[in-house]
Amino acid sequence: SRRGPQRTGRGSGHGGAQTAIGLRKQGFHGSIGLLDRSRALPYERPPLSKEYLSGEKTFERILIRPEKFWRDRDVHLLGGSNVSSLDPLVKTISCGNGQEYAYEQLVWSAGGDAKRLICDGSDLRGVHTVRSKEDVDALIYDMKAGTERCTIIGGGYIGLEAAAVFRKLGHEVVLVEAFNRVLSRVTGPEVSRFIQNEHVSREVKIHLESGVRCIEGDGGLLTGVVLETGEVIQTDIVLVGIGIEPCIDALAKAGAETANGVVVDEYCQTTLPGVYAIGDCAAHINPFADGQRIRLESVQNANDMASVVASVICGNFEPYHATPWFWSDQYDLKIQTVGLSAGYDDSVTRGDPSNRSFSIVYLKNGKVVALDCVNSMKDYVQGRRLVETGLVAAREDLADTSRQLKELL
Ligand code: NAP
Repeated sequence: SRRGPQRTGRGSGHGGAQTAIGLRKQGFHGSIGLLDRSRALPYERPPLSKEYLSGEKTFERILIRPEKFWRDRDVHLLGGSNVSSLDPLVKTISCGNGQEYAYEQLVWSAGGDAKRLICDGSDLRGVHTVRSKEDVDALIYDMKAGTERCTIIGGGYIGLEAAAVFRKLGHEVVLVEAFNRVLSRVTGPEVSRFIQNEHVSREVKIHLESGVRCIEGDGGLLTGVVLETGEVIQTDIVLVGIGIEPCIDALAKAGAETANGVVVDEYCQTTLPGVYAIGDCAAHINPFADGQRIRLESVQNANDMASVVASVICGNFEPYHATPWFWSDQYDLKIQTVGLSAGYDDSVTRGDPSNRSFSIVYLKNGKVVALDCVNSMKDYVQGRRLVETGLVAAREDLADTSRQLKELL
């Protein structure tokens, strides 16, 4: 059967949900459908590798809005819909279950899927990823079965946040990272070193520059991880956090231009008429990345792009120009980043890492481009303006903790 709604979101993560919220807030009266593979209500993803994994927050507490909110605003939650194709000429989308929907405007907010290890044994029982509630539920279920030893593949946010939770729950943790430092995709060497030391001091065993040859099992159940060196790590659980693959197949097949994601303009429009893309899968030109086309895997980006799309659909064309920010909680550390440090040519340390409260200011051609702040909320809040204005400041001024950053403006 083919039926409404006229405005359709694909993906009810942060981007999809915020688009629907933004549309109704701006007085949009048309029909809105939120399609998602999951049947769960839209929920926040950051807690999945933090408080939801540790059991400190129930699922109800990580919902973006309660069920009544969506009902009251007439937003149709179409869970269990795996959009497999779209026809941009007649403006329809088709789901794996045979369901077809017509749209006037389509917002593609499908994010990405967790990358899987490609090696023998990677499909054994006990090998997990963390991307959805269902993933984490399966992990928690397995952990309850007398787990003592957890091995984490990948030293990104997922791996490190999960390592902190596993240690808190009393498990032994081994972490295997391919590169020569953790968090290399998002931070500089000094923060990597600091974070690594924090984990090591809590008895996380870290193997850097290590690849996985295969995962061993016995009767379908995993028993160990074999490294490239031949070393075997005996383990009860494996968590794979090696990045994501943007979900863009249906758009690509329909002819949308792609480049490590779906290409969008400053209004989040893809090259297909009436089709927008936002969030992790949207390859956009970012003013904070020297005008390069990038994807940003963050809640900030999903939410802010959602606001742009909701406005554009309501006829208000404001280009995307949001300041990037990220955060991570590990043990008692709050790590906050503002701006994008990629391509920096100089950095200044503010404060003393041994006090466990400090910031790194990243510079490019003399201008402040980003800050990583560890337990340093004030620098994070004030540093935002430095990044937004591209402040040129002397190194000694940036390093001088007797002065607040806002005084440099
Ligand atoms: P990620 O940030 O891309 O980190 C993956 C890490 O795994 C990289 O350090 C990578 O090293 C390493 N790696 C890749 N292949 C490997 C292999 N075969 N063996 C060992 N290590 C390998 O991805 P993630 O941690 O999985 O996170 C997934 C997504 O969730 C990201 O978008 C992330 O930003 C998001 N997330 C964000 C937060 C937050 O903002 N606090 C928290 C959780 C998740 P190389 O650099 O050498 O490739």
